[in-house]
Amino acid sequence: MKKPRLGQNYLIDENIAHEIIHHAGISNNQHVLEIGPGQGILTTLLLEKAKSLIAIEIDSKLCLALTERFNENKNFQLIQADAVKYNYSALVNKCQVVSNLPYYAATHILKKLIHYREYFSQITVMLQKEVVDRLVAIPGTRSYGSLSVFIQFYCEVERIIEVNKEAFSPKPKIDSSVIKLIPLTRPRVQVDNLKTFFSVVNASFLHKRKMLKNNLTGWENLFQNQNGKAELAGINLSRRGETLSIEDFAGISNYINSCND
Ligand code: SAM
Repeated sequence: MKKPRLGQNYLIDENIAHEIIHHAGISNNQHVLEIGPGQGILTTLLLEKAKSLIAIEIDSKLCLALTERFNENKNFQLIQADAVKYNYSALVNKCQVVSNLPYYAATHILKKLIHYREYFSQITVMLQKEVVDRLVAIPGTRSYGSLSVFIQFYCEVERIIEVNKEAFSPKPKIDSSVIKLIPLTRPRVQVDNLKTFFSVVNASFLHKRKMLKNNLTGWENLFQNQNGKAELAGINLSRRGETLSIEDFAGISNYINSCND
């Protein structure tokens, strides 16, 4: 089957649409941002609930149809733009995000939203099930990786709905899940230098099967020998990155930083 252009797998199951809106818990004093409204299945429901709705859609044909359909709504604004490149600091009001994201750009868009997290009170999004597995994964599990650490460093995460591929047209190859993210007012752990922290995290997961001592070679000069075993900031480097908690990564990164002072 031909791959849908721009990740245009439309949700056709009304019950799932209602469930998403219900879990998002929108009240009539809230401003909502929808990314990729498509044919408008979520848009219609969001307009019934929210104080205002801004929708960002990249496809000009869909934008024409959406304008025709929703133009009468005074509380609706459609922006034709690429959600990966959009400057969210242009948003005047703090928003809730509710969206069925296009698969091909889902993680890029999500990272961008997290970058602008101060503009969002809550982010409820549908993405590939496999990506949601990674977003909620805890240490010691197969899906745990740098994306899990990145998202959980900045947000509270809650997996809320499982969606079968039959709920879409055209039908994608894989199932989806809906996740609710609440940006934390302060990151989950105290980190002295974000650049060092994410360098350590990314290096630790570079080769997932390798021990930390083989992934963190950039900081080899700081390794300590403890009874014949290499350690860094009290972490045994024979461990693999996937066993470390966010606090462990912060400990290593803050130690590296203190050595560079
Ligand atoms: N919300 C609709 C639904 O649930 O049926 C459509 C969801 S569909 C998975 C993804 C939508 O995102 C499509 O309308 C597509 O045109 C739009 N889209 C794809 N890439 C985009 C981008 N970079 N920026 C904004 N919208 C995009």
